[in-house]
Amino acid sequence: MAVPAFLHPFARPSQTEFTSIVRGEGAVVWDAQGNRYVDALASLWFCGVGHGRTEIADAVARQLGTLAAFHAFERFTNEPADELCRTLAALAPMAGARVFLTSSGSEAVDSAMKLARMAQVRAGHPERTLVVSRNHGYHGVTYGGMTVQGLPLNKEGFGPGVGDVEQVDHGDIEDAARLFADRGERVAAVIAEPVIGAGGVYPPAPGYLEGLRRLCDDHGAYLILDEVITGFGRLGSWWGAERFDIRPDLVTFAKGVTSGYQPLGGVILAPSVTGPLEEDPSFVLRHGHTYSGHPAACVAALAVIDILRREELAARAVAIGERLGAGLGALVDDGVLASVRGDRGMWAGVLADDRAVEVRDEMMRRGVIARFLGTSAIAFCPPLVIGDDDLDRCVEALHDAVTGLP
Ligand code: PLP
Repeated sequence: MAVPAFLHPFARPSQTEFTSIVRGEGAVVWDAQGNRYVDALASLWFCGVGHGRTEIADAVARQLGTLAAFHAFERFTNEPADELCRTLAALAPMAGARVFLTSSGSEAVDSAMKLARMAQVRAGHPERTLVVSRNHGYHGVTYGGMTVQGLPLNKEGFGPGVGDVEQVDHGDIEDAARLFADRGERVAAVIAEPVIGAGGVYPPAPGYLEGLRRLCDDHGAYLILDEVITGFGRLGSWWGAERFDIRPDLVTFAKGVTSGYQPLGGVILAPSVTGPLEEDPSFVLRHGHTYSGHPAACVAALAVIDILRREELAARAVAIGERLGAGLGALVDDGVLASVRGDRGMWAGVLADDRAVEVRDEMMRRGVIARFLGTSAIAFCPPLVIGDDDLDRCVEALHDAVTGLP
C-alpha cells in the first residue's frame, strides 16, 4: 500500500494505515466504517465541551460570513478578539491581566518565553535570559517549545534547540533550588505544567509548585504556568493555578479554549510582565502571528466559554476524577495495572510491561480511543460531558485489553 500525501504528525512517515474519523457527538466519535468509539482523551486533550456542538459551528459561520479575518497588527483590531481578551482577563488567575493570542499551544509557549525574556530586558535585566523547565514536561514542538520540553526522544535529530534553557527534575524542588542558588540572577522564567500531561500525567509533588513560586519571587524570575491542557475546567476550576493556589506571571493556553472547534492559543500576562513592556511609550513589541486575534477562532472560544459556564462543566471534572480514579485504582488492586496517576480530569494507568501501543489498539477494538504515553502508560482525559456509562466503558476496555493480550 502506498503512503498517503498527508505526512502525519507524530507518526512513522512510512505508515500506510489510518483510522478516518468522520463524525462526533458528545464524548463519542465514529469512523468511516461506522464503528463507535468513546473518545477517552477528548481527541488530543482538547475537546472539553464535547463533539457536535452546532451552536459553536453556527457562531463561527456567522463570523466567517461577516468578516472571515483581518489582521490585528499595530492599529487594527476586531470585536471578537477584544471581547475574548476581556473575557479571558476577567477569568485569569491573576489581577489586571492582558492577553496575547496565537493559533496553537506551541506558539503560546514560544510567545511566553519571548515575552518573559523581553519583559526582563525592558525591566533593566538583559542578563536574565535563562529559561528553566522540567524533565517529563511537554511544551510543544516549535524550537522554543521543543527545547523546553523534557522528553528527549522528541528532540532527537532536530539539531540544536534554543539557547539558554536548563532542565530540572519535575518532582524535586531541591534540584530547582540548586540551579537558582548557582545562577538565580540569570533566570528569566521557569515554565511548568500544573499537572504534567503528555509527558506522563504527573500531578505536582506536595509543595512543589509553591516552591517554584517562592524561588521565582526570591530571584526576580517569572513563573509561566503552561495550562494548555489544564486550563478551561480540566482540573475542576478554570485553571490549574486555582486548583493548586499558585499565582503565575504568565499562563499559556490553547486546546480547551476552543475545544478544537477552531485553532487558538495564547498567553495571559500579569502586570508584572506587561508593566515593563508598557513603560516606554515608544517601545514596539516586534512579535505576533498573522492569525493573532483571528475573529473566527475568537468567536469559537467565546461560544465554548459560554458553554463551560452555562453547563458548569468544570464541576464535571471532579466527578470524572472520582469515578475514573476509583475505576483505575480497582485495576491496580486487581493486578491489571502496576499503578495509576492523575487528578480530576487527567489520568494515566501504568502497565506492568511496555505494551502500551498494543493495549491502545486492543482498546480501540473494544470501542474506546485512549492514548499511549511512552511505552507503558495509557492516558485518559475525556470530554467533560462524558457520562458515567462511557467512563465505565473506558475502564472496562482497559481491563479487557490488558487481560486479553496473549
Ligand atoms: N503545552 C502543553 C502543556 C501541551 O500539552 C501541548 C500539546 O499537547 C502544547 C504545549 C503544544 O500545543 P500544540 O500542539 O497546540 O502546539
